[in-house]
Amino acid sequence: MTQSGGFVLTGGTIVDGTGAPARTGDVVVRRERILSVDSPGREWMQGYRKVECFGCVIAPGFIDAHSHSDLKVLDNRTEKLLQGVTTEVVGNCGFSPYPTPDDPKVLRDFANGILNGDQNWGWSSALDYLASARKSKTATVASLVGHGSLRIKVAGNTSRGLAQSEVDAMCGLLAEAMEEGAAGLSSGLMYAPGSGASAEELIALCRVLASKGGVYATHMRSYSAGLVEAVEEQIAIAERSGCRLQISHLQAAGEEYWPLQQRAITLIEEASATGIDLAFDAYPWLAGSTVLTQVLPQAALDGGIPKLLSRLRDPFEREAIRPKIKPEAHWNGVVITAAAYDEASLVGRCIQEIADERGSDPATTVMDLLLEQDADVTIVEHSQSLENLHALMTHPLATIITDGVYTKGRSHPRLYGTFPLLFGDLVRERKWLTLEEAVHKVTGKPATAFHLHGRGRIEAGYLADITVFDPGMIRSDATYVKPDVIPSGIRAVLRDGNMLVDSGVARV
Ligand SMILES: [Zn+2]
Repeated sequence: MTQSGGFVLTGGTIVDGTGAPARTGDVVVRRERILSVDSPGREWMQGYRKVECFGCVIAPGFIDAHSHSDLKVLDNRTEKLLQGVTTEVVGNCGFSPYPTPDDPKVLRDFANGILNGDQNWGWSSALDYLASARKSKTATVASLVGHGSLRIKVAGNTSRGLAQSEVDAMCGLLAEAMEEGAAGLSSGLMYAPGSGASAEELIALCRVLASKGGVYATHMRSYSAGLVEAVEEQIAIAERSGCRLQISHLQAAGEEYWPLQQRAITLIEEASATGIDLAFDAYPWLAGSTVLTQVLPQAALDGGIPKLLSRLRDPFEREAIRPKIKPEAHWNGVVITAAAYDEASLVGRCIQEIADERGSDPATTVMDLLLEQDADVTIVEHSQSLENLHALMTHPLATIITDGVYTKGRSHPRLYGTFPLLFGDLVRERKWLTLEEAVHKVTGKPATAFHLHGRGRIEAGYLADITVFDPGMIRSDATYVKPDVIPSGIRAVLRDGNMLVDSGVARV
């Protein structure tokens, strides 16, 4: 990390994060803040380091508004930083590493497929977690309370409906977390035990958010057959509670459901027009990334992983689960990215291929694999359309995110290349968005949505989170087969006035 009296970023094009037209100018950084944004020709102040930005864009540091790096920011991992990210909103999809229940293992079993942790993590409160996260050298961290984590703290890993006293206890803990600095609540309604929550339970929690100014980010109940109903439910929750709604990673997954996306977008637009405070986010990739247990009926996970494994061992329970294993899945497009024990023979292969090799069917193969690997298997699923992706990326209510998940084997390339892909492929090559629009969607827009005060803009007085990139060179070569490729074209990244990427190299 290079600390100095300050920097003068000179000769570049300023894209300030508001969506306003690019302009030339010098950006002067003093300690942790932007001191001035001046026109060229200003005399350098003594003791300031001059950073030549000729041909480059000077943008606010990118904000990854949907991250699963809750644990990895503490290890100072650089995958996001090398993409130009300076702030991460963690705790998404119902998974946060707090509050720990009496037996922390229950929370770890629930969340480790997404957070990729060991068996030692856990924080009792938002206060404790944020204290650890503030020590991260790579990112500023905003944290959502995971609804699944909160539910486990109060009721254990159970998908049953909760008693009023239990909902009240969750509301009390959420209020406390908000006072301690949490940014809001996230739900993961396709993951047990969050999948067991009623709309009423979520409304009660969202009323707490409304009173504290928090955001409700939701991984909805469905992104395929039930997409439209899922959007309707979440809009009703926002309307009845009065909280701000962020629909997470909007998409229509599965070819037969692609036409539903436009209806979902129209519902969001109509709600926005009536004054409901809502938006959505999306990642610029056609494949998703999750745990293999997602293809199961979530009732099979009631009680946690040990219960799941015993159900999969029971011939009668297996037969009950089998017909409910994602009947609409295209198993050629479901590719294993990590497995607990047999990585060499499984990673990179699709479920259909493994089933064929075993002389079995995909549903049986899924159950067998989960048993063999102690349910510790992650996947990417190729399921979306380019036309829909265009509609999402270019929509005025959209924020662009990584949704990056660290997995033990081969992570989805979005962990390494999302923002360089946005500026290289979508802005420069396909011309889907202007530079100004794209920068706004990953800086000013998420800063406002998640109340990240003082960040997300190149403006005097703002914190000096700055990403300098070459708009002609920026690109990601990360692929599903070889994801761990450092992107090109990111020249410098400053966070709170510290230069963390210098001439393209991480200095943390
Ligand atoms: Zn999610």
